[in-house]
Amino acid sequence: MRIYHTDHFVLPLPAGHRFPMRKYAELRQRVAAVAPDLLSVPEAATDAELALAHDPAYVRAVAAGTLDGPALRRIGFPWSPAMVERSRRSTGATLAACRSALACGCGVNLAGGTHHAHRAFGEGFCVFNDAAVAVRVLQTERRIARALVVDLDVHQGDGTAAIFAGDPDIFTLSLHGRHNFPFRKQASCLDIELDDGTGDDAYLAALQAALPYALARARPELAVYLAGADPYAGDRLGRLRLSKQGLAARDAYVLGEFARRCVPVAIAMAGGYADNIDDVVDIHFATVALAIERHDGRRVLDFSPAPDTQCSGEASLLASRVGFAPHARTPSR
Ligand SMILES: [Zn+2]
Repeated sequence: MRIYHTDHFVLPLPAGHRFPMRKYAELRQRVAAVAPDLLSVPEAATDAELALAHDPAYVRAVAAGTLDGPALRRIGFPWSPAMVERSRRSTGATLAACRSALACGCGVNLAGGTHHAHRAFGEGFCVFNDAAVAVRVLQTERRIARALVVDLDVHQGDGTAAIFAGDPDIFTLSLHGRHNFPFRKQASCLDIELDDGTGDDAYLAALQAALPYALARARPELAVYLAGADPYAGDRLGRLRLSKQGLAARDAYVLGEFARRCVPVAIAMAGGYADNIDDVVDIHFATVALAIERHDGRRVLDFSPAPDTQCSGEASLLASRVGFAPHARTPSR
């Protein structure tokens, strides 16, 4: 499996901007300490690739820096050539992770999950919709016909839902906070709206009801999993109050379900806005470490993942058994 990082392509932000740019470098350093050989820098997505999911005029405007003020405010980033390059690389990373998934079962993008990007506009820190572009490129290449997007970021995958609306070959599942941004939701194939303060048990129960249904309906040849860290209780934007253990159980359940059905999966990190950035990095790292253990075989966590047969319906039990103590055994730095 390959793990793609783009943190060298820094998005220049004004001082005090709330986007947690620092998490990407710290996450890559944590991964490099346990699996440096799996890391790669992805190619940038090209205009032609981006235009498979986006309005070509929007792609041109982003590239040329001709978006107007309201369009940029909607995205939430100032325009710069580096912002364009970062957005292209992050999208390229999810495409590369999908190719890795098709080749060997799994691929990871240490960024991505920019699910608020619509066909003709960006929104909420999302310029291009990486999952939509990746799926469309692979469909165009006839590598896949059907795909499933499992969006477990705390915010609805509204851009993804809108881009794939009416397409019977793509199933979009989103579990998100009812009262979270975006306040005008789009219709995914299956939306699970959760109340503030949902917590681990109710969240996992909802997921365990939704994911098997989505898998049965989608019959996917590829899944893209947005493993957002923002359902976490310490998140400034999320409202669902999941614990780190609950999020680890979520990941174990999702990856177990894909493995049990032999569905290749590309994982993107998506959101994470906890006050303590170490918490965000912990949660993302736990997701990546679990993927490494399952798909590469090396041990990077303090526990062994349960066999696939134990993953369905026992996520809470699994979480309580494994605890949440991911760490590098022998950091090589
Ligand atoms: Zn989010």
